[in-house]
Amino acid sequence: MIDLHTHSNVSDGLLTPTELVQHAAGHGVRVMALTDHDDISGLDEAQQAATQCGITLINGVEISVTWKNRTLHVVGLKINPQYAPLKSALQAVRQARLNRAQLMAEGLEKAGIKGSLAGAEQIAQKSIITRMHFSRFLVAQGYAKDHKAVFKKFLVKGKPGFVNHVWMSLESAVSLITQSGGVAVLAHPGRYEIKRTNMLLLLEEFRALGGSAIEVVTGSHTPAHYVEYAKYAQLFGLKASIGSDYHGKGISFMGMGQVPALPSQCVPVWQDWTEAQKLTCHSVEK
Ligand code: AMP
Ligand code: MN
Ligand code: MN
Ligand code: MN
Repeated sequence: MIDLHTHSNVSDGLLTPTELVQHAAGHGVRVMALTDHDDISGLDEAQQAATQCGITLINGVEISVTWKNRTLHVVGLKINPQYAPLKSALQAVRQARLNRAQLMAEGLEKAGIKGSLAGAEQIAQKSIITRMHFSRFLVAQGYAKDHKAVFKKFLVKGKPGFVNHVWMSLESAVSLITQSGGVAVLAHPGRYEIKRTNMLLLLEEFRALGGSAIEVVTGSHTPAHYVEYAKYAQLFGLKASIGSDYHGKGISFMGMGQVPALPSQCVPVWQDWTEAQKLTCHSVEK
């Protein structure tokens, strides 16, 4: 089984890179990508763990992007983690996250919630700070019953903890990924609340910039999305990717080893990867 989208505690996952790889191996995953948000510092550890577990690790990242005033995520697979321009661009994104976290905390403070920055920092420890860390603080403090409710009440557009942050451009993300030798994959397109006309524009632009694939089967898609995005991939001649988007127990839509196969008309993004040849027949529907 193949899983090309996962998170460790280098970003907003719960498991260390080693624990995550062991968890994957124990759940039948043979090829996995670690794709932390805006950070590639878990890849070395994950690689060592993968060697020990006898599974294949694909070097990955999930880059936060702003396109037409919307936040999108672009996954890079088979990136070169030593590629200096990618490393420094991600460093800049992480630096900007600190400023955004400060503004988020100020917004929450105005809504009467004190100490959220210190709280989120304590949960994040040395990792980047994401909305998930704020959410964990807010749930622990009893401001809402679960992450879904916390996001809805505090962390999305129009709510006190939301900051209209400007992330990397789509062009930079795709070019840094491809220049480093990787393939750019548009993450979970079904999550963006984009009307069809704009989705067509986005996919056109993404492909023109050098994007190779879109996620068709992911933890944040419904089965109806699998069908819809398989059609979009076919329409644009894009390959298809699959991934659980696993973050850890209790904060994931889909567990590892539970990712359904791609619809049969899809061309898998790993089609010509030597390290995934043996798998193709298991991860595309017959
Ligand atoms: P950030 O990149 O800091 O905006 O954080 C985004 C992260 O928050 C995503 O990667 C998800 O892990 C998580 N997230 C976003 N929306 C939700 C939601 N509605 N419910 C639970 N988690 C969410
Ligand atoms: Mn996340
Ligand atoms: Mn994402
Ligand atoms: Mn993700």
